[in-house]
Amino acid sequence: MKHFSCVFLGLIMLLAQAPGFALPPASASASAKGHVTLQLKWRHAFQFAGYYAAQERGYYRQEGLEVEIREARPGLDTVDEVMSGRADFGIGTSSLLLERNAGKPVVALAVIFQHSAQVLIAAGNGVSQNIHDLAGKRLMLEPHSDELQVYLKRENIPLASIRQQAHSFNLEDLIAGKTDASSSYLTNEPYHLDQAKFPYQIYTPRSAGIDFYGDTLFTSEHAIDNYPDRVKAFRAASLRGWDYAMLHPEEIIDLMLKKYSREKSREMLSYEATAMIPLLRTDLIVAGYMNPGRWQHIADVYAEAGMLPDNFSFDGFLYDPDPKRDLTWLYVILAAVLGGSVLAGSIAFYIYRINQELKRRLAELRQTELQLKIFSIAVEQAPTSVIITGPDNIIEYVNPKFTSDTGYSSAEALGKTPSFLQSGLTERATYEAMWNHLRRGQLWTGELVNQRKSGEIYWEEVHIAPVKNRLGEVCNYVAVKLDITERKRAHERLKHLAHYDVLTNLPNRVLFFERVTQGISLAKRNKTMLTLMYLDFDKFKPINDTYGHAVGDLVLQEAAMRMSGCLRESDTVGRIGGDEFVVLLLDIGSEENAFRMAEKIRIALNQPCLVAGETLSISSSIGVVLYPAHGHDGIELAKLADIAMYDAKAGGRDKVVVYHAGMGV
Ligand code: GH3
Ligand code: MG
Repeated sequence: MKHFSCVFLGLIMLLAQAPGFALPPASASASAKGHVTLQLKWRHAFQFAGYYAAQERGYYRQEGLEVEIREARPGLDTVDEVMSGRADFGIGTSSLLLERNAGKPVVALAVIFQHSAQVLIAAGNGVSQNIHDLAGKRLMLEPHSDELQVYLKRENIPLASIRQQAHSFNLEDLIAGKTDASSSYLTNEPYHLDQAKFPYQIYTPRSAGIDFYGDTLFTSEHAIDNYPDRVKAFRAASLRGWDYAMLHPEEIIDLMLKKYSREKSREMLSYEATAMIPLLRTDLIVAGYMNPGRWQHIADVYAEAGMLPDNFSFDGFLYDPDPKRDLTWLYVILAAVLGGSVLAGSIAFYIYRINQELKRRLAELRQTELQLKIFSIAVEQAPTSVIITGPDNIIEYVNPKFTSDTGYSSAEALGKTPSFLQSGLTERATYEAMWNHLRRGQLWTGELVNQRKSGEIYWEEVHIAPVKNRLGEVCNYVAVKLDITERKRAHERLKHLAHYDVLTNLPNRVLFFERVTQGISLAKRNKTMLTLMYLDFDKFKPINDTYGHAVGDLVLQEAAMRMSGCLRESDTVGRIGGDEFVVLLLDIGSEENAFRMAEKIRIALNQPCLVAGETLSISSSIGVVLYPAHGHDGIELAKLADIAMYDAKAGGRDKVVVYHAGMGV
């Protein structure tokens, strides 16, 4: 079942939305920590997925926080927003170091992008083959792109040698040749340029050994001093959100499109999510982790460019979520084991924190693994057939119920397409509708007539769902099928009972008069003549009385067969009461023909009848009417045929009477 983890994860994601799977209520530690604002550094994007996840999953609420996530407009300075108190938290970059050095008391809480997404993108149409070709060219640099400026410096391209332009944040300018290169994000611009089929070159500072942190969650010293619990809680809930978002990108994309912004398409958000994977590396690095050594490297690069002093102090800049407890622990280690070695203590401290994080993530993984197991068991034991195919419709899995329903073993089914079950009795249009839905990524529900290995035909109610991967491509189809053959048969039986007489299996009154109505329309259209006959056995009651009801039944069945034997395919004989039968003959041509046919039936019924060892003779009285000569609808014709039949009875029985005007008055 290993290779179906994507399918089951999809199911888990669906079920995680269901009320029954809601997260536990706020923990005991949750207390009202109040309303806080997070200032994003750009408009809504997957770049901030973790915060949306924390909000939606209730992680903030569980910490007693009510969080407002505010998107940025161009020109807004995130650091100013937090310093002024208009926001409590902000998203910054490595340049937070420069802000701190400039006297702004910013504090880095957690690094989300372990590697910055910022790059230079130049037109690839011969403008540049390497970074040095940019010397003398026009370049749009956005504010806080100091990492790119340092990069250019390191490559010996003085800023003075390039023609800097204000950033228009409009890629069209690069495409239209109004600039030669532009500061950009790996997670964003390449998508649009690819869409526009515009050739381009990417220059990343990492190629010059500059590996800056990207998006970093920060706050102010003021917040740390006055609301330490709130800061700690916000950071912890946000990081939980990031863990969730990177494991469930599809779900967060759905959420963003629903609740945040439709400015970016689903495809664009998926591109961004995928491009973020190598920049966050949540598979290797715990979300939010800050390495003091990396920060030192960034400070050194700034110092080299003359943007920071050599002796820049990190004091108070890097946030420690648990200083008290950790220090106590550290002192115990120092005293008992290392005897005061600061270096070894720091290493132990570092390992302790990593361990804590690893434990937490391991617990989450175990939870996911457990859920996978539960789903596997549920599918294996499901009372419905389950088939899972790949994107090419080749069967990859069938459950035991499939085998008991179809007679085909798992080995016989795997590697084939489900079409080997086809009986040829399902309408083509059904398959067309099915594929129309599935190709559009929609669930399809319908009925198929298939064939078991034994050759037996069976009916299935089928539900098929396409499952998509994180890139939005269909990776599997999951079909759940219910054998409804019994239901169908019962339905057919009921339908038959509603239209046929149980004793003789002849059409009953309902079906017979439906045919009369159709026959009249046809006769009207074709200007033909039809005849309706009412037939009642003479003195039938004494047969029952003498020989018993069972013998009477056999006589009625024999009579039904004899009457049917006198008719053409297009004619109908029906039983509408005890010993009362009706006959409909289409396109009869003339009254003489109608009379002759009625006589033929009367004589056929007159023949001796051998039932249950007795030779019986029966006779019948028949009334005949014609359309259009005698009446214009079924009701009128039936009434007149009945009158003619009673006339035959009154005239001595065992005879045919054709209706004529004035009869029965
Ligand atoms: P006549 O029509 O010539 O006036 O006499 P009859 O004896 O045939 O009288 P009528 O048509 O009024 O009665 C029909 C009889 O048919 C009544 C009943 O004994 C018998 N009958 C009705 N339904 C069934 C049935 O399902 N099975 C059997 N065996 N007999 C039935
Ligand atoms: Mg009778």
